[in-house]
Amino acid sequence: MTNRIPLSVPDLRGREAEYLARCVRENWVSSAGPEVTAMEAGIASLTDRRFAVATVNGTAALHLALLAVGVRPGDRVIVPDWTFAATANAVAHCGAIPVFVDVREEDWALDPELLSEALKIFGGVGAVIAVDPLGHAADLDAIESICRTNGVAMIEDAAGAIGALYRKRPCGSGGVVSTFSFNGNKTITAGGGGMVVTDDEDIAEKVRHLSTQARLGSDYLHDAVGFNYRMTNLNAALGLAQLERLDEMVAARQAISERYDKAFRSAPGLARMPRPKHSTGTGWLYSLQFESEQKAVKLVDWLNEDGIDARVFWRSLSVQKPWSGCSSMLRGVSAALSGTVVSLPSSSSLDASEQAKVINSVKRFLAKGDL
Ligand SMILES: *Cc1c(COP(=O)(O)O)cnc(C)c1O
Repeated sequence: MTNRIPLSVPDLRGREAEYLARCVRENWVSSAGPEVTAMEAGIASLTDRRFAVATVNGTAALHLALLAVGVRPGDRVIVPDWTFAATANAVAHCGAIPVFVDVREEDWALDPELLSEALKIFGGVGAVIAVDPLGHAADLDAIESICRTNGVAMIEDAAGAIGALYRKRPCGSGGVVSTFSFNGNKTITAGGGGMVVTDDEDIAEKVRHLSTQARLGSDYLHDAVGFNYRMTNLNAALGLAQLERLDEMVAARQAISERYDKAFRSAPGLARMPRPKHSTGTGWLYSLQFESEQKAVKLVDWLNEDGIDARVFWRSLSVQKPWSGCSSMLRGVSAALSGTVVSLPSSSSLDASEQAKVINSVKRFLAKGDL
C-alpha cells in the first residue's frame, strides 16, 4: 500500500462485508433478491418518489429512462454540453441525436434561457436531460417549467448528486424521471449500479420490463427488444450498506468542500466551483477552475508528483469526435470550463491531515507564480 491520496474512492466502513456475506450464505447473488428490493425502497423513500427500479449502472438507467418517456430513433434529445459522456451516450443508444445546449456560469448546469431558445429552433425533441454537476442541483424548477410549456419530458441525471437538495427537496425528485449512479467514484457506491426513480407507474413498469429482457411472466415469451440491465443482489447488498451511511458520508464531503472553499477564498488565479443558492450540494467532487488549460494540467501534474490524485474534469462534448456533427446552442461557458476545471481529493474517508496536505500542495503551486 502506498499512501497516495485518492480522488474519490469507496468508503466501506459500514456493514458492507456483513451484507455481502449474507447474500452468499442465503444464495441471493444474482438479478433478484431481497437486497435489490430494499435498495429500491430506500432510494424511492430518499427521493420522495413512488417508484424506483435498480439497474446495472447509471448509463443503463438513463438509457431506460429515455426509452420509457418515449424517445424514438431519430428524435432529438437536449443534453448539457458540459457533462459526463454517459449522458450523451445513453441518447445515442436509443438511436436518438443529442443537441448540446450550454451551461450557465452561476451553476455550471443547463442554461434554462438557452434551453428555451433551443426548443423554439429544434423540432422533434423527445426529451431534455438536466444534469446535476459536481454534487449540486441544476435549476430544476426553471428547466422543468420550460419543458412543461413545450410538452417535452424532463429527465434529471442526478448521477453524482445523491443526498443533495434542490431548494428543500431531494435531487432525484425533478422531472418525469430521474436517474442515479452507484459507480465506485460516486458519493455512495454499489460497486456498480444505477437507479431510475419516478412517480409515474407506467414509466416504472416499462423500465422494469425492459431491464429484464422484456419478458412476459416466467415463460420465454417477450413483447419487445429488452435489455439485461437489472442490478444484481450482490451489488444491491453493497449499495444498501452504503445507503445506511449516506447522511454521514454526505456530511463528510460537505465538510471537506467547506474547508477547501475557505482555504482558497482569496487564492489568486482561480475560481472556486459555484455553490448556487438554489442547491445544498454534497461536495461530491470539489473543483477549482483555472485561467488556462495549461495551468490546470500543470497543477494536476504537480499534485500527482506530490502523491495526490487530482484530475481535469469534464470537457465540452459537442467538439468531441462522436458528436462533432451534432447541433448545439452555445455561449462559450462550456468551452471555458473545458479542460480548466481540476477536481481535488474529496472522498468521505479523506482525513483532515490528508486534506491539509492537498491544500498545502495547491498553495505551494500557486505561490510558484511562474505560470
Ligand atoms: C457517473 C455518471 C453517469 C454514469 O453512471 P455509470 O454508473 O458510470 O454508468 C452519468 N451521468 C453523470 C452526470 C455521471 O456523473
